Amino acid sequence: MKKNLLYLLLSFTIASCSPTRNTTTKKDNGRISIKFVQVNDVYEIAPLAQGKEGGMARVATIKQKYLQQNPNTFLVMAGDFVSPSVYNSLKYQGKSIRGKQMVESMNAAGFDLVIFGNHEFDIKESELQERINESTFQWISSNTFHKKNNQLVPFAKTNSSGTDPFPVSYIKTVTDADGTVARIGFIGLTLPFNKAVYVGYTDALATAKELYNKLKDSVDAVVAITHQTMEEDETLAREIPGLAVIMGGHEHDQRFEKVGNVAITKGMANAKSAFIITLSVNKNTQQLKVSTKLEQLDESIVLDSNTDSVVQHWVTIAENNYASLGFDAKKVVLSSGEGLDGRESEIRSHPTNLTKLIVSAIANAAPNADVVIMNAGSIRVDDIVQMPVTQYDIIRSLPFGGSIKEIEIKGSLLIKILEQGIKNKGMGGYLHYSDAVNFNESSNEWQIKNAAIDPLKVYRLALPDFLLTGGEANLEFLKPDNPGIVKVLPDISADIRLVVVKYLEKR
Ligand SMILES: [Zn+2]
Repeated sequence: MKKNLLYLLLSFTIASCSPTRNTTTKKDNGRISIKFVQVNDVYEIAPLAQGKEGGMARVATIKQKYLQQNPNTFLVMAGDFVSPSVYNSLKYQGKSIRGKQMVESMNAAGFDLVIFGNHEFDIKESELQERINESTFQWISSNTFHKKNNQLVPFAKTNSSGTDPFPVSYIKTVTDADGTVARIGFIGLTLPFNKAVYVGYTDALATAKELYNKLKDSVDAVVAITHQTMEEDETLAREIPGLAVIMGGHEHDQRFEKVGNVAITKGMANAKSAFIITLSVNKNTQQLKVSTKLEQLDESIVLDSNTDSVVQHWVTIAENNYASLGFDAKKVVLSSGEGLDGRESEIRSHPTNLTKLIVSAIANAAPNADVVIMNAGSIRVDDIVQMPVTQYDIIRSLPFGGSIKEIEIKGSLLIKILEQGIKNKGMGGYLHYSDAVNFNESSNEWQIKNAAIDPLKVYRLALPDFLLTGGEANLEFLKPDNPGIVKVLPDISADIRLVVVKYLEKR
């Protein structure tokens, strides 16, 4: 592996476009500062909360603001942006959109440095390649590779100017107005969470150590951009205490920690906040100072008009598409009460008001069903959806859509499914089901309306169509050809989201 990595160690140097040295008035003072505007886990191109929070047009404005203060300002995405999204189920000009709306918005916003998140591999290999080719930003990938014919090779961007393999480490050379020059090294790490067949990984920590040791003597600072758990980032900081900063992603709820001198920054998902990281390099003393600050991307930040026009182009395409599916995206369906909790950390381990709402809506649409089950993985909003809730919020909460099926199923198989749902805690295959179902601890049995489920009896079960494909985690046995499935009945509804919208409108 080591040889392989050395072979792959490609370093690029790009001179910044800062003004050339003015020898008559300014003298190199040996000090230079570099700024990063960091966002992570962005699934929405348009602002949320009735236009008040986030959105790529606000990200663009923040970058411009800091760029005006310091030409060595770089916009960073710490992974997770092409998926999940409502756009993944939409087509434009006969092709699946699959992240194209995001890459175009990011190009407009002026992203500079990007790494893979686990969700980049939700889409097909060919689709991801198209998104990469469309991007105008620099990708860095230290431990995540393209698996081709069982070989790990770098992902690469191919366009009219040729093929550009993603470097495992990257060096940016920056110059300020008085001619001070600094070299900043970058590594990019992604957790091997979503193992698509076309992706392979090397060990993130071992790779980081190897690359850090290679970089450290030739640069003024080494920065890690990561998409992994906070625990993994803490270990990284502990094991490589010389890192300047870890700009991380994957957690969605805004984190800041310091391990030794290494700050770990993670903004709020959907660009509701951005971290601003400043590296102050003193070439005279060889000292590096790092400071961090948080920016809330709220109403006080105006929308960048150029980025907003790209965003609006896609929003219009999406809205027309929802209209063709029977939705009125802007219509409010729930105006008061507590926000609907769709955070993955919650819905993958216990019911929330959002999961209960969806299960109730399905039960309402399938009055003859004995049981409703739903996989937590069908909810992909990973956020608390705040009031007022619009039809668009329901669409983005259940981005995959899909029909509601009803089946007749033997009690023995139903018990097996319910058991597996519990074992799937923490995963998308964790199951939510109707209130009528419970596990009686004292009798050690699954019950429906307080009567034990009879393994030989046939029950009627309503469920999202995806669950019946065998595609959910550890539920591959749940397919129409399973002998425990007696009958597949006609679909209840063509779209689970319309079921929820209708249920809310009826209430
Ligand atoms: Zn992630």
